[in-house]
Amino acid sequence: MKMYCPSLTDYQRLNTRCVMVGDVGVGGENPIRIQSMTTTDTMDTENTISQSIRMIEAGCEIVRITAPSIKDAENLKNIQKGLRERGYKTPLVADIHFTPNAAKIAATIVEKVRINPGNYADRKRFQTYEYTDQSYIDELDRIRDRFVPLVQICKENGTSMRIGTNHGSLSDRIMSRYGDTPLGMVESAMEFIRIAEDEGFHDIILSMKSSNTQVMVQAYRLLVKTMNDENMNYPLHLGVTEAGEAEDGRIKSAVGIGTLLEDGLGDTIRVSLTEEPEREIPVARILSNRSREMDKTENIIPSLNELPYDPFFYKRRKTNSIFNIGGDQVTRVVGNLSLKDSISRDDLSPFGYIYASKQDKWHVSDQAIDYLYLGQKRIDFKIPGTLNIINDYKEDSIDSSGFFLYSVEQLDKIPTEEVAFLTCKASDNIFKNLKRLPKCIVVLETDARCAYSALRRFFISCIENKIFNPIIIRRVYDSPSSNDTLIYAATDIGALQIDGFGDGVWLDSMHNNSFNNEISFGILQASRTRISKTEYISCPSCGRTLFDLQETTEKIRSKTDHLKGIKIGIMGCIVNGPGEMADADYGYVGTGPGLISLYKGQDVIEKNIDAEKAVASLIKLIQKNGDWQEPNNV
Ligand code: SF4
Repeated sequence: MKMYCPSLTDYQRLNTRCVMVGDVGVGGENPIRIQSMTTTDTMDTENTISQSIRMIEAGCEIVRITAPSIKDAENLKNIQKGLRERGYKTPLVADIHFTPNAAKIAATIVEKVRINPGNYADRKRFQTYEYTDQSYIDELDRIRDRFVPLVQICKENGTSMRIGTNHGSLSDRIMSRYGDTPLGMVESAMEFIRIAEDEGFHDIILSMKSSNTQVMVQAYRLLVKTMNDENMNYPLHLGVTEAGEAEDGRIKSAVGIGTLLEDGLGDTIRVSLTEEPEREIPVARILSNRSREMDKTENIIPSLNELPYDPFFYKRRKTNSIFNIGGDQVTRVVGNLSLKDSISRDDLSPFGYIYASKQDKWHVSDQAIDYLYLGQKRIDFKIPGTLNIINDYKEDSIDSSGFFLYSVEQLDKIPTEEVAFLTCKASDNIFKNLKRLPKCIVVLETDARCAYSALRRFFISCIENKIFNPIIIRRVYDSPSSNDTLIYAATDIGALQIDGFGDGVWLDSMHNNSFNNEISFGILQASRTRISKTEYISCPSCGRTLFDLQETTEKIRSKTDHLKGIKIGIMGCIVNGPGEMADADYGYVGTGPGLISLYKGQDVIEKNIDAEKAVASLIKLIQKNGDWQEPNNV
């Protein structure tokens, strides 16, 4: 059985051991802990203290600080002292990459150290090596020699440890044997956990971060399964790396973190945004506070013993291609104007269709909806050719200019040979009917509190019953908070997309149509199932950052946000940047004060150029590689 969580149908948190980080318990019965990381220079004691206080006041329960050198590690003492003197007892975590000596010092000062198994004992050279079984064992012995002293210091000082794998910084050894796969990520941590366990050390928390939400979710699931197989129960720290900023960053974080939380996985979370760290906390709170336990009045979701799909590997559910939906076609987006009294051409602009009256022409954006639901209404002007109308079916309605939407009560009215839409609830048992309606597109809804579980159960029943009708996921949110709506929608729809479920999305909320449309396309982009814009993989910044990340990201975005499908990494430092921008097409990486290096994939193309000229040089590089398009200024 390929299970990775306690239950797929009845929310339960994974039973992990409690690891103390100072006075803060992580895992076990403890609430999901919220944490973040400072972005100041660790040697700047006062600024780091002030920023930590802002984070703590915002609700941060664990503060992480980078310790790139021995001097930085030593300065953690001053930061800790300053915080304690001001009455703040929040535990501190030292973030370590490449410098075991800094880790050993930090472990005597702060409550937790975070190591990256990809670079604790290895320097990445982006080379492939052939290992025999013996030479691999020899490598592990070398790691043991470097890692055991840190484990001993942690044991002696009551310091806990996070073994935090990053998809983008796996060692050459792991890459050579497993590739940059979720399995490689899990094995990377397991090598270190097994050594720690041999030393009798169990105060360990684990993470499997990636900027690719599919990889991130699969890696955590595989980690839990592997821990189950090896009788381990370490708490999980969840995060999506380099998620970016603003709505995109929030959506990406919710798709990754929210998906796992819905299945009861995750004991502490960090939402990583290219913004001030205190702004991460409210997003993390919405994710952690979401109510997931079923209400007693709700329909029980039928339990599951077997999964008919692989939760560790992305594969879209097999569906019939009907009209322009299902099969291999991109996930479609539905807009809703059924509540509008009268509909004009301008009402289509929030949905990506802008009418130029002078030329009598429609401009269609990359984020234009595919279907527009009008209820009983009709449109009295010519609509763009790429837009299709859905009207409610009524006995006397014969003049729809598009397709009819039927209810479950109208099932026997649906023509078997015509394309039609059927709206139903996840608890409806309509599988026999769907068998005789191969051209019917399902619009799936639920009122269940665990929307993901309820909707997923319907998809699983479709697989079990060999039903191939395309399914549009419809979600309706009534929260007046746009942040709540964004995060809940990204979680529910994104989680299903990551499982390969859903041929279309239809989002209704209390917010305007532009918001609903942007969020719908944003979720598909974040779950990598429909690319409609440029993707920015920007690091959240930390004490190593060599330029103003927010300002630079904005500058790059303003010049390149029309380059649909291009992924641009914007990384604050050369130490981790190139590795962590993972699968970016182009990279903009800080290499020194005022100096930038530009990358094409993993290859450095221009080194140490003046930061003033770097954005222009990046554009030239994109042009040279044939990926540039002139912006279409409508
Ligand atoms: S890539 Fe960014 S967040 Fe990561 S270590 Fe460098 S500056 Fe810090």
